[in-house]
Amino acid sequence: MIKLGSHVSMAKPDYLVGSVNEALSYNANAMMIYTGAPQNSFRVPVEDLKIEEAIKLWLEKGYSMDDVIIHAPYIINLANTTKPEVFEMGKVVLRNELIRSSAIGAKYIVLHPGSSLKDSLENGIDKVVEGLNDVLKEGFDVIVCLETMAGKGSEIGYRFEHLAEIISRVDYSLGVCFDTCHTWDSGYDLNNFDQVLKEFDEIIGLDKLHVIHINDSKNKIGAKKDRHANIGEGNIGFDILSKVVHHPLLRGKTMILETPYIDGIPPYKAEIERLLNVHI
Ligand code: FE
Ligand code: FE
Ligand code: ZN
Repeated sequence: MIKLGSHVSMAKPDYLVGSVNEALSYNANAMMIYTGAPQNSFRVPVEDLKIEEAIKLWLEKGYSMDDVIIHAPYIINLANTTKPEVFEMGKVVLRNELIRSSAIGAKYIVLHPGSSLKDSLENGIDKVVEGLNDVLKEGFDVIVCLETMAGKGSEIGYRFEHLAEIISRVDYSLGVCFDTCHTWDSGYDLNNFDQVLKEFDEIIGLDKLHVIHINDSKNKIGAKKDRHANIGEGNIGFDILSKVVHHPLLRGKTMILETPYIDGIPPYKAEIERLLNVHI
């Protein structure tokens, strides 16, 4: 079965029940949430999130909690080598998010590896490895999935090799989230998607791939920008994205749209329908 949904909001008063209802309104069988605003670490207590009711509603539809993805807040930067307070705060926030994700019953949390800022990529990677080892030694039943990045600024993770290195040096099991807009912007030619997947498999391993972000891109391949476009409206185009969604090697992996709202309206119901209705 194809697992396809979008990011959905989680806001008062219904919190996770509202998220599930939003996903269901798009006919989605997967969803991704931020457990609070992505830009800050202020969080509503888990007891208030209506978790039990939401899980019941989701499972009643026959959907799986494995397809409820959490995205960690952007403020976490474990690659910051110069400001210990930023690094330490990142670890605290990540730990909190892991606890919250576990309480929600999610299996995967997507994390941006981080930016090395003025320092080298190698030093940044060293710091990410240190940070992840520090946080994960406590033991969590949620798997951190490192996202493939566009390579904007000093972002780590724009080559599969970066993620493979982090995975091999962290003592705990990690996964990966493949973002179509980010890989395109970083220079992977998705016109040859089979080749890109082969490379991913050789360098990281398809068994590590748990989440796929399905986004078109406002920019040309290799632009290192990271601006998402609606499905079929960007430079990747509908045919490639449809091929990704229907790819036999990706069957069963959780796919999430993070495309922009159109005139303030979420486009996900129509985009999901369009992507599912093409059989190739
Ligand atoms: Fe992301
Ligand atoms: Fe993404
Ligand atoms: Zn992005």
